[in-house]
Amino acid sequence: MDLDTTTLRVAFATAALTMLALFYFVTYRSTRSGYSGWWSVALAWFLVGSAAFILNGTEHQRWANPSGNTFLVLGAASAWAATRSLTGSKTPAWLLLFAPTVTAIASFADDPVHNVWTGGPVFLAMMSLMFGLSARELWRIDRELTHIRTSVATAATCICAFYAARWVVFMVDGQDGDVFKSVFGSQVTTIVSLIFLVVVSFSMSILSNEEATKALRAQAGHDGLTGLLNRSEFLRLAAAELHETSAALILADLDHFKAVNDTYGHPAGDRALRAFADACSGTVRTSDLVGRYGGEEFIVLLPNTHLDRAEAITAQISEQLRLAEAGFPMPTASYGITIARPGIDLETSIATADAALYLAKQQGRNRAVRA
Ligand code: GH3
Ligand code: MG
Ligand code: MG
Repeated sequence: MDLDTTTLRVAFATAALTMLALFYFVTYRSTRSGYSGWWSVALAWFLVGSAAFILNGTEHQRWANPSGNTFLVLGAASAWAATRSLTGSKTPAWLLLFAPTVTAIASFADDPVHNVWTGGPVFLAMMSLMFGLSARELWRIDRELTHIRTSVATAATCICAFYAARWVVFMVDGQDGDVFKSVFGSQVTTIVSLIFLVVVSFSMSILSNEEATKALRAQAGHDGLTGLLNRSEFLRLAAAELHETSAALILADLDHFKAVNDTYGHPAGDRALRAFADACSGTVRTSDLVGRYGGEEFIVLLPNTHLDRAEAITAQISEQLRLAEAGFPMPTASYGITIARPGIDLETSIATADAALYLAKQQGRNRAVRA
């Protein structure tokens, strides 16, 4: 089968343009994640780079061919930047431009007028290097999104190996050698590149959506003002925790909070709520659950904790709150404490803690009462 290179390149450019448009408008615009932005940039450079090669054999070859090499390496470098942003690292401009610059110098200085493989060895080595660095970055990611990571990492590893093999055969066999032309020539490369772009774009799309969903889910489970778990998320997580372990359950309510709003204004009240939330989060262990139960009521679950310890924790929270700097005196807080156990309905335990909290209010506030 003899596939003609120009047709393949036009087909590739068309497919890359379609993918770029879809990826940019559908995925990037809705998520704005760093890596989908960089992948859009990579697709654009792959598109421009391969389009430049269509001018091979014309009078424009002298600038189009070395530019094509440079743009493709820029695309691979942008793909690397995409993988780096996936792991949270930024890519400085010099790092991004190093390989493309080397490629540009080698390709323009060689023989772009007569040779379509001008600067070939440097171009192939740089492509392999950039894809290799991308693959290394991807294999290092350790997160739940494993199957997606694996597909992108595998694709990057394959394309890196392909360019490395091209480079070796180019050096050994030469650009006119049979092996190079039949196995690593432009036709095969165009098809391999197309598969690579489709696999990576598709995976990156899924990855972006999964991340967006994850972020939304995290947002949906938290209270906007304090950042604590909201009531329903707290109840869900607490019920799961109480399947197997017993835990101290604390219901807290700020004292005379209405007076804070009335005296210092609603925004000051909000600051007091945040200060109380910070006092709770700063006092408990990361494995404990803290939620905003309602207006100025909070709820805390301390797994494997006795009443004594729980009471000591309420004292620490109140002390933290007293020390908080907000420009006005902080309110005090009252607490009701009980032990929640597997087999006892969570609603029942909360009602028990609420009854204890009511007693704390009755007994003069600023105290903890055990059920
Ligand atoms: P007690 O000591 O008996 O608990 O008295 P209290 O004033 O704290 O209780 P009350 O239930 O009378 O008032 C609670 C107030 O909390 C009323 C409500 O406006 C205020 N509140 C509820 N949610 C928010 C909020 O998000 N921000 C602010 N600033 N105030 C809130
Ligand atoms: Mg109150
Ligand atoms: Mg209240």
